[in-house]
Order: sequence, then C-alpha cells, then structure tokens
Amino acid sequence: MTTYVVSREVLASNIRQLKTQAGAVPIWAVVKGDGYGLGVLPLAETLSEEGITHFCVTDVKEAEILRDNSFTEEKILMLRSVCDRREINRLLDLKVILTVGSEETARLVDQIAAERADVAEVHLKIDTGMGRYGFLPEQTDRVISLYAERKHLAISGIYTHFNCAFNNEALTRQEFAAFMGVVEAIRAAGQETGTVHCCNSAAFLKYPEMHCDGVRLGSALLGRMPFRTKLHPVGYAVTNIDEIRTLPKGHTTGYSALWKAKKDTRVAILPVGWYHGFRVSCQPELARKRDCLRAALSAVKQLLRRKRATVLIGGRQCPVVGAVGMLHCAADVSGVDCKCGDPVTVQISPLHVKGMPVVFRA
Ligand SMILES: *Cc1c(COP(=O)(O)O)cnc(C)c1O
Repeated sequence: MTTYVVSREVLASNIRQLKTQAGAVPIWAVVKGDGYGLGVLPLAETLSEEGITHFCVTDVKEAEILRDNSFTEEKILMLRSVCDRREINRLLDLKVILTVGSEETARLVDQIAAERADVAEVHLKIDTGMGRYGFLPEQTDRVISLYAERKHLAISGIYTHFNCAFNNEALTRQEFAAFMGVVEAIRAAGQETGTVHCCNSAAFLKYPEMHCDGVRLGSALLGRMPFRTKLHPVGYAVTNIDEIRTLPKGHTTGYSALWKAKKDTRVAILPVGWYHGFRVSCQPELARKRDCLRAALSAVKQLLRRKRATVLIGGRQCPVVGAVGMLHCAADVSGVDCKCGDPVTVQISPLHVKGMPVVFRA
C-alpha cells in the first residue's frame, strides 16, 4: 500500500533549527490546511514535544482538534477575521484568540462577548498589501479608537501578513515600515499593542530584524521553501513496483506518447500519479505580461537543464519516463537491481499529498 511517511526526527530537527534562529521570540506554529497536509494533531504533537506552545489555525475544526486533544493551555490564534456568529461563539468557547480585521468584526465580536458577559481576546490585523483581512494603515485613527470603544475586546496583539516576502525585498520592507507606523501611532496614543508580529516563514528566514514579538511559521516547518535553506524536506511517499516491463525500442509509455524508448528499456510501473500530488506544484498566475514572460523563461531554463523527475529504487535515482498519469507513472530502471513489489520512494510535497495515509515514524 502506498503511504506518506513523515519522520518525526526530521520534522523535530527543523523545529529545533527554527527555534534556535528565533531565539527568545516565540514561534506561533501555523497548522492550517490540516497541518499543511501532515494532519493537525500529529504535527501539533511533534511541535509540542519540541516546546512549541503557540498555534495558529484558519478553521474552527483545527482549534477543536487541538483543544479536544489536551492542548488546553496553549495559545491558539484564528488567522481569519471571522464574521459568523456561530463560529465566533464556538471560538470563544474554545478560548481561541480571534482576529479583528474590520469594524464589522470588531462590533460583532464585542457584542457577542458582551452577551456572554465575557471579554474576547483578539489580535488586530493590519492590511499592508495582501488586500485580504485587515485595517488599512490610513485607518489608524479608527484602529486606535477600538481600544477605548470596544469594552469587551481584550486586544492582546497586532499583526500583518506579507504578500511578497519570498521574492520582493523592497516591497516587504515598505510593508514592514507601514505596519510599524501603525504600531507606533497606537503607542503614541497611549495604548498597549501587546504582541506585535508580521513574519511568515519567508520573512522570518530572510529578515531577522522583522521578528518583533512573535513569528508565524508554517511552510518552514516542512523544510520546503522556494529558496535555499538548511532545513530538511519533510515527508515522502513510499510505494511498491507494480510491474516491471522491458519496452522494445520505439515503444512509448504514458499518455500523449511523450517518451519513446531509444533502445529496449527496462521500466518499472508505479501506482503513483498526479492525483496523489506527484509532480504537482502551485502554478503562478499568468495574469500579467511579465508573469507570462517569466514562466516562458523558466520553461526554457528547465529545457536546457533537462531536470527530469526521479524516484528512488534500489538505492538509485531512476528517471521518470513519459507523462505522469492520474494514478500511475513509469521509471527507467535499466541496470537497477529491482523486482516487482520492491519499495519505491517518491518525493511529494505534503501540501499536495492526497489519497494515501500519512504515517509518522520515529
Ligand atoms: C499561512 C499563514 C502563515 C504561515 O505562512 P508560511 O509561509 O507557510 O510560513 C502566517 N500568517 C498567516 C496570516 C497565514 O495565513
């Protein structure tokens, strides 16, 4: 059976490395998207074993999983500015810190907390460019007045979320300056901002001066960043060879006949395809002309480098041949000591993995 294997030790070593880099600044571990594909609970358990006590979620369900599984004292921050009565009530039951990114949410959360004779702990969200949740820096005066006006909100933090930390330093610095401008204005008005945080994984790794009072890390835990790091990729699929064939010279494999045997070729057939997340990546939006140009350039680069996908069989990296199908692919195993049923290691990002059980091992 094909399984997705996660080494606790590799994950733990990434966490330790990130903790060292964070120094005294707490890591708020992001466990959204079912723990980036690893499962909220097993990911959170490993984080907890390594001393992480702060978590971020984007779904009520994720908070429930944590609270139901003895994560009772940990801080949990909801990253969405929720505007649904039932969700807000449930999150308050679960003692989750809410995000307030608009006047409407501020009013609603304040009102619900009042009805419950409660005080809702919240972090304010500032929109410095992402253009999703948050108050604009131009609305700083309104933000400041929330501290006094909303008696049932305990504002214990303020944050922003960078949109280009991985590829645009100038813009990120500009966004950081805008964010700190809001923070300073609030302080100048005599209010306590609480925990100030803005870094996601990319910003954390690239700009230590922006760590502030906390950092929100997700993808770095997985060790798969779009730039070079010392982190280790977490997770890989293990499957078995279904069939071994010798395809005669001139024969093809896979849809569209993209590969043709130049000579008689020994090929292993594997029950893994794009459905499982193999060779799946987030394609950039080709919205602007320059994005199309960039994509074309990267295609040419790939063509020149001829960087083919490989899978690990019998201790050797074997090139994948032909198009990867929905559930199958083929690998050239010429000269590799292997037989039907032998194990195969396939690199798949946990973000894309699907259709196989995720197993944590020591
Ligand atoms: C997903 C998310 C993060 C973590 O981003 P990574 O790049 O995966 O580290 C941080 N903050 C917010 C608001 C997010 O939505």
